Amino acid sequence: MERTLAIIKPDAVAKRHTGKILEKIEAAGFRLAAMRLMSLSQRDAEGFYAVHRERPFFGSLTAFMSSGPCVVMVLEAPDAIRKWRALMGATDPAKAEAGTIRKEFAESIERNATHGSDAPETAAAEIGYFFAGMELV
Ligand code: ATP
Ligand code: MG
Repeated sequence: MERTLAIIKPDAVAKRHTGKILEKIEAAGFRLAAMRLMSLSQRDAEGFYAVHRERPFFGSLTAFMSSGPCVVMVLEAPDAIRKWRALMGATDPAKAEAGTIRKEFAESIERNATHGSDAPETAAAEIGYFFAGMELV
């Protein structure tokens, strides 16, 4: 079993796509190990996306991520990291394959509906950023 951090980003929550995205997650066979609705501060978002600090879109990305509530989750499945990224689709919805979450729900390369960890080390760090051990069920 593997765990990954997933976020339903503020664009998708505001558009009331949370239920539809959760349905796809469960239909794909993931088990929810943790879930919380929360509003990130700009600082929270900057800490989360610290690897992108030097990128030109960092200010805009962190403003977007702190613009409204998001749903933060831990998903569990065999090969969860790769499997969740495949279900999300490409970062840019214009390049995402049919049937993926970003193809269906993302507005733009920035406002792209969901987040997923990209490797075991980042998944562990991102899960620890949002959840204490006792919150993982
Ligand atoms: P995430 O880490 O959110 O799952 P990702 O791994 O597909 O997405 P990253 O390269 O890690 O993509 O970028 C992190 C986030 O930064 C993207 O999901 C998107 O919201 C935003 N982003 C990435 N590239 C751009 C860009 N060129 N312009 C604006 N925003 C961008
Ligand atoms: Mg990423």
